[in-house]
Amino acid sequence: MERLMTGVQGYLLLIWAMSSVSDITMNRMVASEPAVSEATKRTMSANRCKNTSIELAVRKALRSAGLTGYRLHWEKAPGKPDIAFPGRKLAIFVNGCFWHRHEGCKYSYTPKTRVDFWNKKFEDNIRRDKHNYEELESQRWTVIIIWECEFSSNRITSVIEQLKAAMNGS
Ligand SMILES: [Zn+2]
Repeated sequence: MERLMTGVQGYLLLIWAMSSVSDITMNRMVASEPAVSEATKRTMSANRCKNTSIELAVRKALRSAGLTGYRLHWEKAPGKPDIAFPGRKLAIFVNGCFWHRHEGCKYSYTPKTRVDFWNKKFEDNIRRDKHNYEELESQRWTVIIIWECEFSSNRITSVIEQLKAAMNGS
């Protein structure tokens, strides 16, 4: 019995740990979410997983292109870029279309309930993103944004080329 309890507790701890990790990758946007429809929940959760896997794919591509020495979620740069090359001042953000409001994108819809809540939240996100990008640029960082909907191997290739050009140029 005791052994069983330990197993269950370990399992719960694992679930707790996993949910904490994914909450961190959600960029502090989970606080005080209102009740949302099942469809919205599914979208949000899919975005979360998709974003993480996009980030992993980008990191893998960077490594195979020999672009190492990057920091993840680097706190010393404004906006904690998902991937940062501090020496070269290159910041990459992998943005979820829903949370970061990709303009004109079908994933950037507004849930039908509690519209005011969502609009306020989205405005805050847009303002924060804009502030972060401006702050980075004023400190001479190059900012590269990868939207989740435009993610493809072609997009990664163009990001790698952009990075290499920026590195050679400085
Ligand atoms: Zn999009």
